Amino acid sequence: MSIIDVRPTAPELHDHATEPTPQTYRAAVVHEFRTPMTIEQVSRRTLETGQVLVKVEATGLCHTDIHAAHGDWPVKPTPPFVPGHEGVGIVVERGAAVTEVAVGDRVAMPWLGYACGACDYCVSGWETLCLAQKNMGYSIDGTFGEYAVAYGRMVVKVPEGVDPFDAAPLTCAGVTTYKAVKVAGTRSSNLVAVFGVGGLGHLAIQYAAIAGGRVVAVDIHEEKLELARELGAEFTVNAATEDPIEAIQKLGGAHQAIALAVAPKAFEQAYASLRRGGTLVFVALPADNEVKLPIFETVLNGITVVGSIVGTRADLREVFALHAAGKTTVIRETRSLADVNEAIADVEAGRVAARIVLEP
Ligand SMILES: [Zn+2]
Ligand SMILES: [Zn+2]
Repeated sequence: MSIIDVRPTAPELHDHATEPTPQTYRAAVVHEFRTPMTIEQVSRRTLETGQVLVKVEATGLCHTDIHAAHGDWPVKPTPPFVPGHEGVGIVVERGAAVTEVAVGDRVAMPWLGYACGACDYCVSGWETLCLAQKNMGYSIDGTFGEYAVAYGRMVVKVPEGVDPFDAAPLTCAGVTTYKAVKVAGTRSSNLVAVFGVGGLGHLAIQYAAIAGGRVVAVDIHEEKLELARELGAEFTVNAATEDPIEAIQKLGGAHQAIALAVAPKAFEQAYASLRRGGTLVFVALPADNEVKLPIFETVLNGITVVGSIVGTRADLREVFALHAAGKTTVIRETRSLADVNEAIADVEAGRVAARIVLEP
């Protein structure tokens, strides 16, 4: 007989909230690329082993959702599908063998909807590169609905006191830019150029500043540059009226540049704004998939060019912890999920300050 009580609390085969979950729920569905999404009743799926059903409270609208709905990228989702990968809500039901979260927990459902957990990438802290990954709102149905199905192992708990409408943009825009600053290797006193001050950029500025960087923000809208200054950018450049390369080189050149604007030209400007030994981080994914970079200058100037894709669950935990500690501000506006098509039109026309968060 052991002196320690080692009886593990075995997960029940299936548990759920006392309130019954409906058999169908409303969701935004893409039936055909480049046509508006339809809001319709979809049937809820039976939970597979390891899955949870989440009642969605808030779901951010990311540029990736728009590219998904348009079928813009080389690897396309297969319609019909439900977009959304900045979903936050309450776990209302657990499938078999879920031990990571309990019914009633508030969780975030990120882009990395599933990773195998066993490959070289997964076991070395690079689960975001797992070849077996499934992505919410792309290869598996996402969070643009009243409910969403996710893997209990992959969701990230939202700390007490963090507003779900703040947590939603942090789930992609936050973790993506947080990781980009990590990948950039920003250290105190580095000059960090952030190209594009939108849903991602407004958070990148804050993470670069938290890392000790001095931030120069570049955009073509004066009100976004105003926002950038409020959030900690020391310098701003309006690329519509001023040459950002010249302006940033005048400051000594950027140690790191983070490319967040969905225009290849901004990537080229970001490259040319670097000082010798600088690092350019590719984050945005323009539909136009080509940039032109010079080989000679890259070699002679010792430039690093690196791609950064979202972040891990550990990165997202850190993002939430920073927010819970009051270190970041999320700029967002709330719309109804029923107005998702109008919201997309507004994002595409640049009529949105930072992030739209949809309420199912
Ligand atoms: Zn996203
Ligand atoms: Zn893997």
